Amino acid sequence: MSDVLLSAEGLVKHYAVRRQFLGGAARQLRAVDGVSFTLARREVLGVVGESGCGKSTIGRMLVNLIEPTAGRVVFDGIDVTALDKAALRKLRRRMQFVFQDPYSSLNPRLTIERIVGEPLQIHDLCDAAEVMERTAAMLLKVGLGGDHMRRYPHELSGGQRQRVGIARALISTPELVVADEPVSALDVSIQAQVLNLLAELRQEMQLSMIMISHNMAVIQHSCDRIAVMYLGQLVEIASADEIVMAPAHPYTAALVSAVPVPDPTARRQRIILQGDVPSPIDPPAGCRFHTRCPHAGIQCAVETPGLREVRSNHWVSCHRSEEIYGS
Ligand code: SF4
Repeated sequence: MSDVLLSAEGLVKHYAVRRQFLGGAARQLRAVDGVSFTLARREVLGVVGESGCGKSTIGRMLVNLIEPTAGRVVFDGIDVTALDKAALRKLRRRMQFVFQDPYSSLNPRLTIERIVGEPLQIHDLCDAAEVMERTAAMLLKVGLGGDHMRRYPHELSGGQRQRVGIARALISTPELVVADEPVSALDVSIQAQVLNLLAELRQEMQLSMIMISHNMAVIQHSCDRIAVMYLGQLVEIASADEIVMAPAHPYTAALVSAVPVPDPTARRQRIILQGDVPSPIDPPAGCRFHTRCPHAGIQCAVETPGLREVRSNHWVSCHRSEEIYGS
């Protein structure tokens, strides 16, 4: 059995966008533009970047909620992108998705018992009595008692609803969970509880996870490795420790510098990026980050950097990484 559970190979997602008022030809919004990485069994990989960088689109392509324009996703040796509907439905039990907004992702007309137990019925995994038994056990596991079974989503708090979303994703004992901004809709006081819950369940159920977030602070404490995205492309991927202690890309360095340091005696200089993220309809030539990069040189505007290994298992897409950060 290979140690790699999942691989994304050259994933691309473009959307046709019609020019308003001009009636012109459709242009391409390049949401994701050639992203590749692997996920080992029982590994947690964080995908981080600003809003609009394509990270959520990647998450949805990984579990086939949306189809890639090009590239493929291989899960446990199976090319997910080539499966027909019936085979995909079967595979879905093994790869689940936790949504950002726990309220809109839960059917308001169903009780918590029905919502959580539904995947067992859809995949025909057990009889009605066992569905109820496993639902109660799963709710207990995520910190909700049996008294929540008969309630409806609107009767729960945001944190409780996200626990329900997690219970629903895990009840079919998947091997892979893709969690898209699982705590960003929650109060700060609840975020740590839900992250701790995910960490406990990961250990207990031997899960592999992709954790997507715009917040480096959330990602750095929850993940083994981190992939940093900018404007539809992967710019750096390495262990969480390397990314936080020794980033090798100027964009990653800026994201890390924004994370508060818990030690009041320690100082970290905040890097403020100038300008806005360019439009993915018309991304800059060369390095896509050159319009905001404090280290951009002449080469950066004309030549696109490819991902290369600057240290062991530390990949970065920057012409000047060694010059700026040493090797
Ligand atoms: Fe900055 Fe150039 Fe590196 Fe891009 S390639 S991140 S513009 S130094």
